[in-house]
Amino acid sequence: MGTTTTTIDLRSDTLTKPTAGMLHAMAHAEVGDDVWGEDPTVSALEARMAERFGHEAGLFCPSGTMTNQIAIRVHVADGDEVICSTEAHVYNYEGGAIAATSGASVRLLAGDRGRFTANDVEAAIHGDDPHYPRSRLVVVEDTSNRGGGACWESAELDRIRGVCGAKGLALHLDGARVFNRLVAKGDDPVAYAKRFDSISVCLSKGLGAPVGSVLLGGRAFIHAACRVRKRLGGGMRQAGYLAACGLYALEHHVERLAEDHARTQRLARALREARPVKSVLAPETNIVIFEVDDVVAVLERLKSQGILASGMGPGRVRFVTHLGVDDAMIARVEAALASL
Ligand SMILES: *Cc1c(COP(=O)(O)O)cnc(C)c1O
Repeated sequence: MGTTTTTIDLRSDTLTKPTAGMLHAMAHAEVGDDVWGEDPTVSALEARMAERFGHEAGLFCPSGTMTNQIAIRVHVADGDEVICSTEAHVYNYEGGAIAATSGASVRLLAGDRGRFTANDVEAAIHGDDPHYPRSRLVVVEDTSNRGGGACWESAELDRIRGVCGAKGLALHLDGARVFNRLVAKGDDPVAYAKRFDSISVCLSKGLGAPVGSVLLGGRAFIHAACRVRKRLGGGMRQAGYLAACGLYALEHHVERLAEDHARTQRLARALREARPVKSVLAPETNIVIFEVDDVVAVLERLKSQGILASGMGPGRVRFVTHLGVDDAMIARVEAALASL
């Protein structure tokens, strides 16, 4: 490194730190014991998020892993099968929790950038035969992280909803970055969210809160989810200090995601011109994944210029834009890419 300029951290949108406004909101939060149902700020966040997506109720949890895995636990019984993408966070990055917490097996679907089709789902559903696990739940991840922030087609989501409804399967959305999708596509959140039986929304990604995710669903579902959260140790006491950050983010950090999206477009243009870059997955939101021969060398070269990126498996590097990245930083990255 050895420069006086600040590091540009494009490794993940989880690396954001609370802004001054968010810290102010946190310091002034009204709190109580949320396990006793007495934290007004947590209750307000749960209600606000549920209302935003047109679901009946919400449950504030420490992480998106917990909201996803609670949802899976409530939707499936031991020995049931969960259908998701080969790229899915719930399968790849949650410590084997589908097996450990829900005792369920997983049917993986290949597809395009983390997205599969209703036909894929239909073909994967088992008949009622004791040889097979009972197909019970489909998980969609929108945007798809390993898919380079790709958004699902609304029409395909409708068809998947249709198959789930006809075959008696539940449909869960891993919406860690659902606000990126909604902003990118200009969808109405309520119309979008209607298709899903449950939704996990992360506050600690692009929205810039330090901690937390909200699980959304029907009242009975959230009631059951609250018991699982307690069992997993996710009941938090004066959690309103954290929920206040989430409320602040909903007010101030949603529309600005469009700026992150514009910046990944700039990065993609520079990447297409960069010598070591073989291909770029066209960015749709705040993530851009590109292919190189030597990931370690590229990460080192970038790091020497104060730019941090993350490896995404063999031959792949990921840049993620977020609230801690501004236009001046993007200009520095463009210059660095031109000299790679
Ligand atoms: C970050 C993320 C989660 C949840 O992660 P936590 O670190 O547990 O909050 C879930 N799904 C996707 C796609 C993610 O990117």
